Amino acid sequence: MNSTITKPELGQLRLQGVTRRFGPVTALDHLDLTIEGGEFIALLGPSGCGKSTALSCLAGLLPLSEGAIWADDVRIDTLPSEKREFGMVFQNYALFPHLSIRDNVGFGLKVRGVNKQELRARVDEALAMVDLQEHASKLPGQLSGGQQQRVAIARAVVLRPRLVLMDEPLSNLDAKLRLQMRTEIRRLHQSLKLTTIYVTHDQEEALALADRVVVLRRSKVDQVGPPEEVYNRPINTYVASFMGFRNLFSVETTSSTGQQGIVGARSHGNSFQVTAQRPIQAGRAIMAIRPEDFQLGPVDGNSLRVRAVVVEFSGHTFVVEGVTEAGEVIHLRLKDRVSAGDTIEVGFSPYSALLFTGDECSDDVVQTAAAVQVEVFS
Ligand code: ADP
Ligand code: MG
Repeated sequence: MNSTITKPELGQLRLQGVTRRFGPVTALDHLDLTIEGGEFIALLGPSGCGKSTALSCLAGLLPLSEGAIWADDVRIDTLPSEKREFGMVFQNYALFPHLSIRDNVGFGLKVRGVNKQELRARVDEALAMVDLQEHASKLPGQLSGGQQQRVAIARAVVLRPRLVLMDEPLSNLDAKLRLQMRTEIRRLHQSLKLTTIYVTHDQEEALALADRVVVLRRSKVDQVGPPEEVYNRPINTYVASFMGFRNLFSVETTSSTGQQGIVGARSHGNSFQVTAQRPIQAGRAIMAIRPEDFQLGPVDGNSLRVRAVVVEFSGHTFVVEGVTEAGEVIHLRLKDRVSAGDTIEVGFSPYSALLFTGDECSDDVVQTAAAVQVEVFS
């Protein structure tokens, strides 16, 4: 029997200083990452940060400029793509249009010379996994986008690869299908435990799917951790803004850490109480708050006057883009009805704000009041 259809075990995958340059552009800059067998890893970052390059290097579609990739104690970055025994799922499903769904899924097994009976059983099993048995004899063009993506997933997992690579597989689907498929991918991973590296620019997708999230910024890793950790304790303003802390305000902390980690912070004549994640020096800092952590009225003495500029109703909240008295843009999600043009008072709990200092503050995501061109209070 062909060895590629017995499930190869992967103990650990190690990327050591993985670097890829395109002429003057460094797309990946000394990426170090260790992945345990069975883990689901999400590579998260904005467009152009090197996610697809990382997957192509892993898949063997691109040679490295520097560094090495190890599967347990075997160096694999020097192996040709087909010898790595990885499965791939791309954004554009890349199915063969003239082959039936069954033949698309079975293609890899056929190429590997698997006998007919074995092939049929494996394909049936894979089709059942993604709930497509009744579509087996159709052509890809007769299926919806979501179904086609399920075929692509079945085609990747039918080989029981020791690593599955997925590059933004849901980005061509509409919002509802995207959620359904996300759950299916999670379910599939829970049952098969195939080691998976999943690339996305969508924070929610990464948090929902992954055992660990790797946040990439400009070809380097910023933070690696379980979803709750990256979500609740981002290490800098870049990761924070990615994790939904849309409001980043320049403040002056007026005291170093006091009782229970409470720090005073001042901004444009307003004083706030904020819980510091750790002891900090008094001085310039960035205060980060999520839109949903604001509410109407003061909270524990924290209060801010805001003029609502744009208000959108989102079902259970009102999404407000407003402007503070200092002219800073502010994003709120409020349970109470607010209308454009209203001046409101909002507050936030000291525990919901984060403070960042020194090199935790990346200039590219911090707004400066001067740069904000909006109508200020009269
Ligand atoms: P992402 O998938 O995160 O959007 P990519 O890995 O596609 O990012 O790209 C990372 C950087 O490398 C970008 O600046 C991109 O322009 C560059 N790049 C990617 N592929 C090539 C290529 N084949 N030739 C030249 N530059 C490339
Ligand atoms: Mg990409």
